Amino acid sequence: MYAGKIVESGHTREILKAPLHPYTQALVSAIPDPNPENRMRHRSVPAGEPPSAVSPPSGCRFHPRCPHFIKGKCEAEEPRLIKIKDSRSVACYLYP
Ligand code: SF4
Repeated sequence: MYAGKIVESGHTREILKAPLHPYTQALVSAIPDPNPENRMRHRSVPAGEPPSAVSPPSGCRFHPRCPHFIKGKCEAEEPRLIKIKDSRSVACYLYP
């Protein structure tokens, strides 16, 4: 869920193994790694701050922070939550 909207759903193990939505990917990437050998490993964190819940961004609420932003589409219309597989759904224009 991002800014009050469900952006991805499915079985926990499947999502953690292969997150689809860019925000879910960022969340999974931010999970602390207890292995000290990985302490210098680069983690991509989306720029910016979470949006206002009172006045969220137009279109996809994640678009101001998304590294895959599609100009003219992502800010124009809110993507619907669509079923990708039996147990997976995602709200993102990167998926058909
Ligand atoms: S709909 Fe666009 S802005 Fe939103 S997560 Fe997908 S690619 Fe990023």
